Amino acid sequence: MTILVVGSVAFDTIETPAERREQILGGAANYFSLAASFFSPVQLVAVVGDDFPQEHLDLLQGRGVDLTGLQRVPGKTFHWSGRYGENCNERETLATDLNVYADFRPTLPLAYRAARYVFLANIHPELQLEVLDQVEAPTFVAADTMNLWIDTSLDTLKKVLGRVDALLLNEGEARQIGGTCNLLEAGRAIAAMGPKTVVIKLGEYGAIILQGEARRFVPAFPLSEVVDPTGAGDTFGGGFLGYIARAGSTAPESLHRAAAVGSVLGSFVCQDFGIDRLKSLTEAEIEARFDALTRYAGYDPAPLFA
Ligand code: AMP
Repeated sequence: MTILVVGSVAFDTIETPAERREQILGGAANYFSLAASFFSPVQLVAVVGDDFPQEHLDLLQGRGVDLTGLQRVPGKTFHWSGRYGENCNERETLATDLNVYADFRPTLPLAYRAARYVFLANIHPELQLEVLDQVEAPTFVAADTMNLWIDTSLDTLKKVLGRVDALLLNEGEARQIGGTCNLLEAGRAIAAMGPKTVVIKLGEYGAIILQGEARRFVPAFPLSEVVDPTGAGDTFGGGFLGYIARAGSTAPESLHRAAAVGSVLGSFVCQDFGIDRLKSLTEAEIEARFDALTRYAGYDPAPLFA
């Protein structure tokens, strides 16, 4: 099943303790699309400026991403810049230049409107809503967001939450929206705003999936070297929804397995700068790491005191 995604396609400038890369291909919808395309066809809704090179579009198209909904307009492409400290989990945003996103009005091509699976990747919640308004009868809508929109557009973000089945967010964002530092309580507060499923991403530790009183966990795949964690959350989202759309099931067990797939995809992207690891990634590598993650998390569930 095809997935419709809206979100940023960007140039990123990234600084890690070891290296700095300028103007590399980034953006939440871009990471999402590349990851999801391993599992399902993707229809992309986004905008880029006239400075955006054809080779990046060729890369997406080469992975089967439908670019009919990608607008190319005069002006500069969205630019984001971030710096990682010695503790790679801590990231400082240095710049967010919306550029062509400031005046972007998404218009869905007719063929996109019948989308059953929708991912509202990180972008202004107003744009997420505009896309949702144009989709006829989606089966499963998942959304992502970030602290910038929680700080500046919480009311609009809450309208998005009222219309989605699942929200994916990191632990800091969950505490911020949920208004409590206890993650289970925060998840409950978020669920009360709309999404029945709340997936809280825990960076290098994994993710928890909350559905009512049901709680499940997936670990992150342990890596001995992290080169650049940028895009790990969006890549997680791509694996998560990509798997769900392919399986055609939103049953709790499917969502748990989907989060494990997200965890696997997210781990790959950390092993090189930007999208580079996704470029060379193969199905066989994904399969092998999924198997390794299953064994990493597995233990004999037999009773301890029987
Ligand atoms: P992640 O590391 O998964 O949080 O995603 C990082 C990606 O999100 C980068 O490629 C950025 O281009 C993109 N990004 C950062 N800030 C924003 C924002 N405010 N809106 C949309 N995308 C953003």
